[in-house]
Amino acid sequence: MPLPTCGQLAPTLTHKAGRRWAFLPSADATSPSLGTLTIVQSKRDTISYGVALEEGQVLFLKLTDGEVYGVTLDRAGRPAKCSCPGYCFKKTCKHCDCTKELLADGVLDAAPAHAA
Ligand SMILES: [Zn+2]
Repeated sequence: MPLPTCGQLAPTLTHKAGRRWAFLPSADATSPSLGTLTIVQSKRDTISYGVALEEGQVLFLKLTDGEVYGVTLDRAGRPAKCSCPGYCFKKTCKHCDCTKELLADGVLDAAPAHAA
């Protein structure tokens, strides 16, 4: 059984403390999803996503309604922007925050593209 990885997220203005994430790798190697990411911002704000990595984008598929948000990575493999409504408004979001964490923890491996 794959083991979950978890960690903390930096506080935001809305969520001052205790933001957490947990990632459970997919047991099915043939599945396009790398695993399930759960983001806990507060007791009432807990969302699970299927995570996939695709051509310089980390895709977050919301498990509750199937909505997909994409975090675009820059050439260095860092999150550059997200397609969710929250990002439009604040220029950052929990998907970007989590992508940073997942990359730092080696859960996601977004090798920088060696493009010219
Ligand atoms: Zn987002």
